[in-house]
Amino acid sequence: MTVRAVERPADLRGWFGDHVEELRAFVPVDGESLDDRVARGAAMLGFLHGAGVMGRGWPEAWGGAGGTAIDRALVYDLLVRSGLDLPESLAPLEVLGSALSAYAPELAATHVPRVLRGQELWCQGFSEPDAGSDLASLRTRAHRSAEGWVLTGQKVWTSLGHLADYCGVLARTGTTDERHRGLTLFWVDMRADGVGARPLQTLTGEDEFAEVFLDEVVVDDSCVIGEVGQGWAVAMHLLQYERGMWAWQRQAMLHQALEIAMAHDEMDEVPVDAIGHAFCVLSSVRARSARTIERLSRGEIVGPEVSIDKILLGRAEQAVNDVVRLALGRDFATSDAAAAERARGAWFYSRAASIYGGAVEVQLDLVAQRVIGLPRGTR
Ligand SMILES: Cc1cc2nc3c(=O)[nH]c(=O)nc-3n(C[C@H](O)[C@H](O)[C@H](O)COP(=O)(O)OP(=O)(O)OC[C@H]3O[C@@H](n4cnc5c(N)ncnc54)[C@H](O)[C@@H]3O)c2cc1C
Repeated sequence: MTVRAVERPADLRGWFGDHVEELRAFVPVDGESLDDRVARGAAMLGFLHGAGVMGRGWPEAWGGAGGTAIDRALVYDLLVRSGLDLPESLAPLEVLGSALSAYAPELAATHVPRVLRGQELWCQGFSEPDAGSDLASLRTRAHRSAEGWVLTGQKVWTSLGHLADYCGVLARTGTTDERHRGLTLFWVDMRADGVGARPLQTLTGEDEFAEVFLDEVVVDDSCVIGEVGQGWAVAMHLLQYERGMWAWQRQAMLHQALEIAMAHDEMDEVPVDAIGHAFCVLSSVRARSARTIERLSRGEIVGPEVSIDKILLGRAEQAVNDVVRLALGRDFATSDAAAAERARGAWFYSRAASIYGGAVEVQLDLVAQRVIGLPRGTR
C-alpha cells in the first residue's frame, strides 16, 4: 500500500508501523561523517518518495502527493518518532521550496521533485561577512549583461554550501542606498563557472557550512526568483518557513532527545526544575509552530510573528540539551563513547540556535516593534 492511496493521518501512522524493518536501514549510524549522513538521508528520501510518503504536502505537479504544510509536518513528526533523523536536504527544501513555489513555479517543477527523491541538495546564500542581522546591507552584486545576469560577491555561513547542487543567492541589483528595495533572489547552479565553495568547520568539528565565492557567475532570466528588485519580499516570505517549519522539525527531534535522556541512569541527579523548564519551553514551541504551520497552510501571512517561534526554539534547543548534558553526568565531558560524542555535538550546536535564522536579540526587537507595536529603540 502506498500513502497516495490513503488520506487520513491514522493511515499514515499505520504505514510507519508497517514498515519498521525497512526504515531501520536509515537509522543514524554512530560516528558517521557529514557526507555519509547526507548520502543516508538521500537514500531514505528515495525510499520514502517511492512509497508515496515523501511528497505529501507538495503539489502533484512538483512530484508531490498534494496537501499542505500540515501534511509535511505530520511526515516529519512520524519520521522522528520512528527513530530517524530528518535528512539534511529537508531544511533547505522548506526554506527555498516555499520561495520557488510562490515566486518561480517553473524552477519548482524542475527542482522540488529532485529533492523529494533525494537527488538534489540546496543551500541558502544570504549572509555575508558584513551582512548578517543587517541583511539589507549585503554587497554581492548582480548586473545585466548580454549573456544574462552576472553575479559577483561572497557569502558566508552557507549551510552545506560545499555539498549543495543549487543555491538561492540574494544579490543587489539596485543601488546600495536602496537597501532592501534593491535586492533580487537568484537560483545558482553550484557547478557553474565562477562558483567556489570553501568548507568552514563548526565547534563540533564538522564542515557544516561554507564560504561561497561568486566570480562573474552568469545566470539567465529563468533563474530570477520573483521580480527583479523583489528579493526582500521573497526573503520575508521564505523566512516564515525558515523560522516556522524549521521550529517544527527541530521540536520533533528535541522531544526525541529529551525522551532518550529521561531513560538515562543518572537522570535522578538532574534537578527537576531543569527538566520541567525544558519540557515547558519545548511544549510551547510545538504548540506555537503547529499554529504557524496551520496558518501557512491556509495561505495566511504570518509575517514578523514567526520571530516568536524562532525565539522559543532557541530556548528549547538550549534547555533540552542542558538536560541531556546533566543526564550524562561526568561522561558528557570525558567519555569518548558514541552517545557522549553525539550529546556534546548537539549541545554545542544548540548554542547556535539563538543565532542562525536570525539572532535572538534582533528577533526580540522585531517582536517588540512589529508585533507589539512599541516605538523603535524602546528598551
Ligand atoms: C549554524 C548556522 C548556520 C547558518 N546557516 C546559514 C545559511 O545556510 N545561510 C545563510 O545565509 N546564513 C546562515 N547562517 C548565518 C546566520 O543567518 C547569521 O549568523 C545571523 O543572521 C547573524 O548574523 P551575523 O552572524 O553576521 O551576526 P551579527 O549580525 O554581526 O550579530 C552579532 C551580534 O550582534 C547582535 N546584533 C546585531 N544587530 C543588532 C541589533 N540591531 N540590535 C541588537 N543586537 C544586534 C546580534 O544579536 C548578535 O548577537 C548560519 C548561522 C549559523 C550559526
